Amino acid sequence: MYLRARPEKRIKIFDDLRKTAPLDFKLQTELVEDIFYISSTPEWCNKNYTRGAVYYNPFIPACSCDSFLIRHANYKKGDVRIICTHLYEFYRSRLRTDEMQLEILMSKVSLSNAEIIFSKCQLSGDDFLWIGYNLSSPWIHLIIKNDIWTEQLYNLKEKRWAYNLAPVSRAKLEEIIALNFKEAA
Ligand SMILES: [Zn+2]
Repeated sequence: MYLRARPEKRIKIFDDLRKTAPLDFKLQTELVEDIFYISSTPEWCNKNYTRGAVYYNPFIPACSCDSFLIRHANYKKGDVRIICTHLYEFYRSRLRTDEMQLEILMSKVSLSNAEIIFSKCQLSGDDFLWIGYNLSSPWIHLIIKNDIWTEQLYNLKEKRWAYNLAPVSRAKLEEIIALNFKEAA
């Protein structure tokens, strides 16, 4: 049993590596701000939910909390950056993970950084990645898809990946970063 199980495990590891093979990026020299909209919330959650004194509608999306109201005053309706903890918690816990995986991840990134700017970076074919940045912070958020959407963090000042864990497509990503972000002189 042990001898049989071991090669199977090896094959599985190899298979996983293949799935995260480096992507073929098409580089661009200038990042343009793009708005990421929450747009695929299912119809069934178009109603008011309450949590304590707070009420929210995840479909619109809207919430009565102060955090939402401040964010909503700064951004357009549906912009992911208006998402507060109440809406995020709803998406994270009530929706199927495959339903709004990118939206949930983008909400999470925005929640930790309300002034973040997003740019959609076209790759080869229909592939793309999202880059999130706030030029007062050295951290760049790269939202990339391998099997699922994941966030990778890169520090511009220290020229290193968060926890020193580099993604598989590291060289291409670093090329994009070098092209688009230059340290102020
Ligand atoms: Zn809220």
